[in-house]
Amino acid sequence: MRIALTNGLVVDPISAETGTQPVTGSVLIENEKFVDKLSGPADRTIDAGGLHILPGLIDAHCHLRDPGQEYKEDIISGSKSAAQGGFTTIACMPNTKPVCDHAALVSYMREKAARAGFARVLPIGAVSKGQQGRELAEIGLMAEAGIVAISDDGSPVATADLMRKAMLYASHFNLAVISHCEDLSLAGGGQMNEGIWSTILGLKGIPSAAESVMVARDCQLAEYTGLPVHIAHVSCRASIRIIREAKARGVAVTAETCPHYFVLSEDACQGFNTQAKMNPPLRTPDDVQAVIEGLQDGTIDIIATDHAPHHEDEKACEFALASNGIVGFETAFGLGYTLLVKTGLLSLNHWLQTMTTRPARLLRQPLGTLQPGSSADVVLADLNNPWTFDRNQMASKSRNTPFHGMELFGRPLMTICEGRITYD
Ligand SMILES: [Zn+2]
Repeated sequence: MRIALTNGLVVDPISAETGTQPVTGSVLIENEKFVDKLSGPADRTIDAGGLHILPGLIDAHCHLRDPGQEYKEDIISGSKSAAQGGFTTIACMPNTKPVCDHAALVSYMREKAARAGFARVLPIGAVSKGQQGRELAEIGLMAEAGIVAISDDGSPVATADLMRKAMLYASHFNLAVISHCEDLSLAGGGQMNEGIWSTILGLKGIPSAAESVMVARDCQLAEYTGLPVHIAHVSCRASIRIIREAKARGVAVTAETCPHYFVLSEDACQGFNTQAKMNPPLRTPDDVQAVIEGLQDGTIDIIATDHAPHHEDEKACEFALASNGIVGFETAFGLGYTLLVKTGLLSLNHWLQTMTTRPARLLRQPLGTLQPGSSADVVLADLNNPWTFDRNQMASKSRNTPFHGMELFGRPLMTICEGRITYD
């Protein structure tokens, strides 16, 4: 199959020469890869009509709920939702039921995703058996089966000793270690950020220190061992300051945030709005500002979705009983473009790097670029016309989002993964 995508504004964040100014041109695809020149006439020519042609997005952090909670999402609906949001590669967290802590489950996920064909699904294996934090999972066997990283996301790796061992093991298998930083002795039982709104609403608060003390621990371990660590879903100024200082000393720490941490603050919890309940919780407006500054100066490398589908009933209940998290695949592009690029806070190139080349590097994948020879992963996007996000139009099985009805700029209109159209 030869595809010619013509007449588009081509932006490849990997090449510095393109700068922030897109070049009008074409992208050619043959045998699932980008090529300089087609070996014959195109089987299909797609006129991009002046839309932007970008590398397919890569999500380093999502939850597909499969196996075990397919009523919320499964690998097919989740990867379809990802394609609709412009993603071609997604890395899914192991807190399924049962936990992905052994090779058979890794193979199941990869095979089911390959059969569905909507996106490249890269499983992340558990750090500890059952994510219980007691002994290491079968990391070597999972690596053979195709995991790209290890994480106990959803729960912290509570002891520094186990985290240190995980970093050592992961380095032997060239796997990333992704740390969900949460000190449960500080966070336990908390419902939202500890501050003015938790006081007004009478909800138990989670101090930002519950996150930052563990960020400090993991930076210290990375410094001591000389091994890399990646900090998941950074939400507060204190964590960002620690990461910034560690990076300045040359510590191999990388970090991610999620759209909700630069779009929303704890104010969104007013009226006991369960769609604003997350872990880590939405923080203060000052923390939101710190997240933006962290993105701007490169302290935060990556924007991930933390796509966390939940059934309607798990949100339509008392705040204290509601599940944490929101769906994210189908709003990440629009929120990032509207709130970061259109506002001038980040250049188009810089923002795209946070969702393409940098997650590719974290996950050790040769992806996130339009360079000839790379996998033909593309998103065709409209950056000029506003659209209204409607949660009922999502491909995800779940509807838990605080962004319903929001007017956004930046909308993926077609996604191509390995030369196959996965969304149109
Ligand atoms: Zn987490």
